[in-house]
Amino acid sequence: MLSPARFRQGEVHEQAHRLGRGHPRRDARPRPGRRTPTGQRLHCHRHCARHSTGGTLSPERTQALADKLAALTPAGQPTTTELLKQKLGVDDNPLSELVDQVINPADYTCTASTPVRDWLVASRADWTPQDVALVNAIRSWDPIFYDAVLWPQDAGSQFGANGQFTTATTHTFRDLRNFWDIHGADIKLVPMHGSMLLDRPRLVRLFAEGYGLPVALANEFADEIATAMNQEKFDFGNHPFFTFNAFAFAGQNIPGFTVIPAEILMGDGILAAYQALGYDDVTAQAILAHEYGHHVQFQRGLFQTTLTGPEAARRIELMADSFASYFLTHARGDALQWKRIQEFDQVFFQLGDCSFTAGSHHGTPNQRLRASEWGYGVARTAANQGHILPSLAFAGLFDRQLPTLVAPDAN
Ligand SMILES: [Zn+2]
Repeated sequence: MLSPARFRQGEVHEQAHRLGRGHPRRDARPRPGRRTPTGQRLHCHRHCARHSTGGTLSPERTQALADKLAALTPAGQPTTTELLKQKLGVDDNPLSELVDQVINPADYTCTASTPVRDWLVASRADWTPQDVALVNAIRSWDPIFYDAVLWPQDAGSQFGANGQFTTATTHTFRDLRNFWDIHGADIKLVPMHGSMLLDRPRLVRLFAEGYGLPVALANEFADEIATAMNQEKFDFGNHPFFTFNAFAFAGQNIPGFTVIPAEILMGDGILAAYQALGYDDVTAQAILAHEYGHHVQFQRGLFQTTLTGPEAARRIELMADSFASYFLTHARGDALQWKRIQEFDQVFFQLGDCSFTAGSHHGTPNQRLRASEWGYGVARTAANQGHILPSLAFAGLFDRQLPTLVAPDAN
């Protein structure tokens, strides 16, 4: 059952034809710090490393750290991460699932090629099996995500690994606060940066206070993780696998543990992926508008529905898509070109097609496109282009439209 305390994700998707349009795929180019055949040093293009002094860890040391992290949880027991997840009321994350599929393809039957999937696959092309084991072990702790959730005040105010999305993100957030009739000032906008993985004090705090490990052990892991991540092949922590995420969190008081404010978390990795595919002009805006839509739902009690299970979840996601496109294209919202939003949606909504077909948990790509298109239509066809519908009125229209949006479309 959904609860307002749960995280919501910006889901992701693909579209094959984008690849042919000449948008450079970043991983097709040489890596940061490498030299061209003529010996000229290249500017870093994927994620500029803050720490470019990292050495190389031997496969043996890499595997040893992976094993040590994995050994913390005996098989068959809930992991420390699972326990924290339960405490915070965090849902499983379909975006993580996509990254899982890319890292561990043998575990999944889905091999659909999509631009985002292909980009992610290319981004780990130089990893050894030991590297994969280590990344799996670290991702199972999801340190960047939990650090951002628990200590949002320390996450900084820059968006994108190089701050390249800061303006788009903060301006869109300001516009969203002005647009929708909720208490936007109460919502914190929090970046998720890979650099956290090199930050020993933050790693220690997370392992000790977040996961409850003994301080000595927390220090040990912090040292080893920071050393291991300080390698070029992990983009010095900024590898997109660690922050391929966006979330809305309603805020939660967890007695005896902490108070978490209402938050939107924006990962550098998901922004980088869509930037690489040529969508940097709309990516941050669209993802943020969707997540903000969840905050409208939290504050307006829009989770109330007679639907249950996957159908209830799908309604929530499709409604957030509608909220997003209404805001993004509205004259008093971001006033972005619908055609551009639509192109982005094509790629974004198809990313998780494996999980979508499994349970239609978040709506199929077609349903999501229809929901987005409908939201745009409400803005475009309004008699008074300067009028913003109250959020509850918009949601009411959406609920009346929902059966049409989810109608079978196989033929
Ligand atoms: Zn969502």
